[in-house]
Amino acid sequence: MLAYKLEERGGLLGLVPPKNTSRTCPNCGYISTKNRQTQAHFECTKCGYKENADVVGAINVLRAGHAPLACEMNGAVRPLSAGTQRDLLQQ
Ligand SMILES: [Zn+2]
Repeated sequence: MLAYKLEERGGLLGLVPPKNTSRTCPNCGYISTKNRQTQAHFECTKCGYKENADVVGAINVLRAGHAPLACEMNGAVRPLSAGTQRDLLQQ
């Protein structure tokens, strides 16, 4: 359904594995089932970060969705060799 809507209106659909998205602390990255004490409440047992559990899940899904895009950009932009850098600086 989302893919169909995006074809009409434009956009990018990223698929994110749901594993640990509700158990990972967006502040320190600590993963534990104990971080999510109730359905609605998230509290990191390592750093004490507190937030609504749905908000934490949304933050983690957004980050996971953006991560492959950042890697693709990093892979597309390669560092220049020292010789090429020197040549460009001298122009
Ligand atoms: Zn934490």
